[in-house]
Amino acid sequence: MVDYRALDRRRFLLGMGALAGAGITGEGIAGAAEVPRIYGCDEWGARPPRDRLVTLNHRANRILVHHIASANSTDYSLAHAFEVARNDQADHMDNNGWSDTGQHFTISRGGYQLEGRHGSLNALKSGNKMIKGAHCPGQNENAIGIENEGTYTSVEPPAAQWSSLVALCVYLCEQYGIPPEEIKGHRDFYHTECPGEKLYAKLPQLRGEVKAALGR
Ligand SMILES: [Zn+2]
Repeated sequence: MVDYRALDRRRFLLGMGALAGAGITGEGIAGAAEVPRIYGCDEWGARPPRDRLVTLNHRANRILVHHIASANSTDYSLAHAFEVARNDQADHMDNNGWSDTGQHFTISRGGYQLEGRHGSLNALKSGNKMIKGAHCPGQNENAIGIENEGTYTSVEPPAAQWSSLVALCVYLCEQYGIPPEEIKGHRDFYHTECPGEKLYAKLPQLRGEVKAALGR
Protein backbone atom coordinates (compact mmCIF):
# COMPACT_ATOMS: atom_id res chain seq x y z
CA MET A 1 0.00 0.00 0.00
CA VAL A 2 1.44 3.35 -0.98
CA ASP A 3 0.41 6.42 0.91
CA TYR A 4 0.29 8.90 -1.92
CA ARG A 5 -1.19 11.55 0.32
CA ALA A 6 1.86 11.42 2.55
CA LEU A 7 4.14 11.74 -0.46
CA ASP A 8 2.16 14.67 -1.82
CA ARG A 9 2.11 16.32 1.56
CA ARG A 10 5.84 15.98 1.93
CA ARG A 11 6.41 17.48 -1.49
CA PHE A 12 3.99 20.26 -0.70
CA LEU A 13 5.79 21.03 2.55
CA LEU A 14 9.17 20.92 0.87
CA GLY A 15 7.90 23.32 -1.76
CA MET A 16 6.57 25.59 0.97
CA GLY A 17 9.88 25.33 2.77
CA ALA A 18 11.73 26.37 -0.34
CA LEU A 19 9.45 29.37 -0.69
CA ALA A 20 9.21 30.37 2.92
CA GLY A 21 12.75 29.64 4.05
CA ALA A 22 12.92 28.55 7.66
CA GLY A 23 9.21 28.80 8.37
CA ILE A 24 8.13 25.17 8.16
CA THR A 25 8.60 22.57 10.85
CA GLY A 26 8.44 18.89 9.92
CA GLU A 27 6.52 16.31 11.90
CA GLY A 28 9.38 14.08 12.94
CA ILE A 29 12.40 16.28 13.37
CA ALA A 30 13.12 19.88 14.10
CA GLY A 31 13.84 22.26 11.28
CA ALA A 32 12.65 22.37 7.72
CA ALA A 33 13.04 18.74 6.70
CA GLU A 34 10.08 16.41 6.48
CA VAL A 35 11.04 12.79 7.21
CA PRO A 36 10.86 11.04 3.83
CA ARG A 37 9.31 7.59 3.37
CA ILE A 38 12.27 5.34 2.68
CA TYR A 39 11.57 1.68 1.93
CA GLY A 40 13.87 -0.57 3.93
CA CYS A 41 15.77 -3.63 2.69
CA ASP A 42 13.21 -5.91 4.35
CA GLU A 43 10.41 -4.23 2.40
CA TRP A 44 11.92 -4.56 -1.09
CA GLY A 45 13.10 -8.10 -0.56
CA ALA A 46 16.84 -7.67 -0.26
CA ARG A 47 19.12 -10.67 0.03
CA PRO A 48 21.12 -10.82 3.26
CA PRO A 49 24.61 -9.31 2.98
CA ARG A 50 27.33 -11.78 2.06
CA ASP A 51 29.44 -10.83 5.05
CA ARG A 52 29.43 -8.52 8.01
CA LEU A 53 29.01 -4.85 7.11
CA VAL A 54 30.99 -2.15 8.89
CA THR A 55 29.18 0.37 11.09
CA LEU A 56 31.19 3.55 11.53
CA ASN A 57 30.55 5.50 14.71
CA HIS A 58 30.66 8.90 13.10
CA ARG A 59 28.49 11.08 10.91
CA ALA A 60 28.71 11.36 7.15
CA ASN A 61 30.10 14.67 5.90
CA ARG A 62 29.25 14.49 2.20
CA ILE A 63 26.65 13.16 -0.27
CA LEU A 64 27.65 11.70 -3.63
CA VAL A 65 25.03 11.61 -6.37
CA HIS A 66 25.15 8.74 -8.88
CA HIS A 67 23.10 7.36 -11.74
CA ILE A 68 22.72 3.61 -12.12
CA ALA A 69 23.27 3.92 -15.90
CA SER A 70 20.26 1.67 -16.36
CA ALA A 71 17.38 2.04 -18.82
CA ASN A 72 15.18 5.13 -18.50
CA SER A 73 12.13 3.06 -17.65
CA THR A 74 8.65 4.55 -17.86
CA ASP A 75 7.38 2.15 -15.22
CA TYR A 76 7.04 4.48 -12.26
CA SER A 77 5.41 1.96 -9.91
CA LEU A 78 6.54 0.93 -6.45
CA ALA A 79 6.82 -2.67 -7.67
CA HIS A 80 9.27 -1.53 -10.33
CA ALA A 81 11.26 0.47 -7.76
CA PHE A 82 11.61 -2.68 -5.65
CA GLU A 83 12.76 -4.59 -8.74
CA VAL A 84 15.38 -1.92 -9.47
CA ALA A 85 16.72 -2.26 -5.92
CA ARG A 86 16.88 -6.06 -6.17
CA ASN A 87 18.57 -5.97 -9.58
CA ASP A 88 21.11 -3.42 -8.42
CA GLN A 89 21.93 -5.50 -5.35
CA ALA A 90 22.31 -8.63 -7.49
CA ASP A 91 24.61 -6.74 -9.87
CA HIS A 92 26.79 -5.50 -7.02
CA MET A 93 26.97 -8.84 -5.23
CA ASP A 94 27.15 -11.23 -8.17
CA ASN A 95 29.05 -9.19 -10.76
CA ASN A 96 31.19 -6.93 -8.57
CA GLY A 97 31.62 -9.43 -5.75
CA TRP A 98 30.62 -6.89 -3.10
CA SER A 99 29.12 -7.71 0.31
CA ASP A 100 25.84 -5.97 -0.46
CA THR A 101 24.43 -3.07 -2.48
CA GLY A 102 27.23 -0.50 -2.82
CA GLN A 103 25.29 2.71 -2.16
CA HIS A 104 23.32 3.70 0.89
CA PHE A 105 20.14 4.79 -0.89
CA THR A 106 18.41 4.39 -4.24
CA ILE A 107 15.77 6.57 -5.90
CA SER A 108 13.55 5.20 -8.66
CA ARG A 109 12.40 7.21 -11.65
CA GLY A 110 8.95 7.15 -10.09
CA GLY A 111 10.39 8.95 -7.06
CA TYR A 112 10.43 6.09 -4.57
CA GLN A 113 13.25 6.21 -2.03
CA LEU A 114 14.81 2.95 -0.92
CA GLU A 115 17.51 1.81 1.41
CA GLY A 116 20.47 0.34 -0.47
CA ARG A 117 23.07 -1.18 1.83
CA HIS A 118 21.64 -2.87 4.94
CA GLY A 119 21.63 -0.73 8.06
CA SER A 120 21.84 2.59 6.20
CA LEU A 121 18.35 3.67 7.23
CA ASN A 122 18.79 3.02 10.95
CA ALA A 123 22.19 4.68 10.85
CA LEU A 124 20.62 7.73 9.20
CA LYS A 125 17.87 7.85 11.81
CA SER A 126 20.50 7.79 14.56
CA GLY A 127 22.23 10.78 12.98
CA ASN A 128 25.60 9.75 14.43
CA LYS A 129 26.51 6.54 12.61
CA MET A 130 26.94 5.47 9.02
CA ILE A 131 27.46 2.17 7.26
CA LYS A 132 30.70 1.91 5.30
CA GLY A 133 29.65 1.93 1.65
CA ALA A 134 31.06 0.69 -1.66
CA HIS A 135 30.08 3.44 -4.08
CA CYS A 136 33.27 5.46 -4.56
CA PRO A 137 36.84 4.51 -3.63
CA GLY A 138 38.24 6.92 -1.06
CA GLN A 139 34.79 8.21 -0.07
CA ASN A 140 33.12 5.13 1.38
CA GLU A 141 33.81 5.98 4.99
CA ASN A 142 32.54 9.53 4.89
CA ALA A 143 30.13 10.03 1.98
CA ILE A 144 26.56 8.79 1.61
CA GLY A 145 25.94 7.40 -1.87
CA ILE A 146 22.61 7.92 -3.64
CA GLU A 147 22.01 5.95 -6.84
CA ASN A 148 19.36 7.30 -9.17
CA GLU A 149 17.67 4.82 -11.49
CA GLY A 150 18.30 5.72 -15.13
CA THR A 151 20.97 7.26 -17.37
CA TYR A 152 21.40 11.03 -17.37
CA THR A 153 24.00 11.65 -20.04
CA SER A 154 21.54 13.31 -22.44
CA VAL A 155 18.24 13.66 -20.56
CA GLU A 156 17.32 15.03 -17.15
CA PRO A 157 15.69 12.96 -14.40
CA PRO A 158 11.87 12.98 -14.21
CA ALA A 159 10.25 15.51 -11.85
CA ALA A 160 9.21 12.88 -9.28
CA GLN A 161 12.74 11.53 -9.04
CA TRP A 162 14.16 15.02 -8.75
CA SER A 163 11.86 16.07 -5.91
CA SER A 164 12.68 12.86 -4.03
CA LEU A 165 16.39 13.49 -4.53
CA VAL A 166 15.95 16.96 -3.05
CA ALA A 167 13.91 15.57 -0.14
CA LEU A 168 16.41 12.81 0.65
CA CYS A 169 19.33 15.25 0.52
CA VAL A 170 17.47 17.64 2.84
CA TYR A 171 16.90 14.84 5.34
CA LEU A 172 20.52 13.64 5.08
CA CYS A 173 21.86 17.16 5.59
CA GLU A 174 19.54 17.67 8.55
CA GLN A 175 20.35 14.36 10.26
CA TYR A 176 24.11 14.38 9.72
CA GLY A 177 24.70 18.13 9.71
CA ILE A 178 26.08 17.96 6.17
CA PRO A 179 26.52 21.39 4.53
CA PRO A 180 24.55 21.49 1.22
CA GLU A 181 27.80 22.58 -0.47
CA GLU A 182 29.04 19.01 0.16
CA ILE A 183 26.47 17.48 -2.21
CA LYS A 184 28.76 16.35 -5.03
CA GLY A 185 28.80 14.10 -8.05
CA HIS A 186 30.58 10.75 -8.24
CA ARG A 187 32.85 12.21 -10.96
CA ASP A 188 34.15 14.85 -8.53
CA PHE A 189 36.03 12.08 -6.70
CA TYR A 190 36.56 9.32 -9.25
CA HIS A 191 37.33 8.93 -12.94
CA THR A 192 33.81 8.26 -14.17
CA GLU A 193 31.12 9.86 -16.25
CA CYS A 194 28.62 9.25 -13.39
CA PRO A 195 26.08 10.78 -12.62
CA GLY A 196 25.76 11.73 -16.29
CA GLU A 197 26.30 15.15 -17.88
CA LYS A 198 22.70 16.30 -17.46
CA LEU A 199 22.31 15.32 -13.83
CA TYR A 200 25.77 16.61 -12.98
CA ALA A 201 24.82 19.97 -14.49
CA LYS A 202 21.87 20.14 -12.11
CA LEU A 203 23.92 19.70 -8.93
CA PRO A 204 24.21 23.47 -8.29
CA GLN A 205 20.40 23.61 -8.48
CA LEU A 206 20.19 20.64 -6.10
CA ARG A 207 22.45 22.36 -3.59
CA GLY A 208 20.36 25.53 -3.92
CA GLU A 209 17.02 23.76 -3.40
CA VAL A 210 18.35 21.82 -0.41
CA LYS A 211 19.77 24.98 1.09
CA ALA A 212 16.44 26.79 0.66
CA ALA A 213 14.47 23.90 2.18
CA LEU A 214 16.81 23.87 5.18
CA GLY A 215 16.27 27.59 5.55
CA ARG A 216 19.97 28.32 5.35
ZN1 LIG B 1 28.48 6.64 -9.62
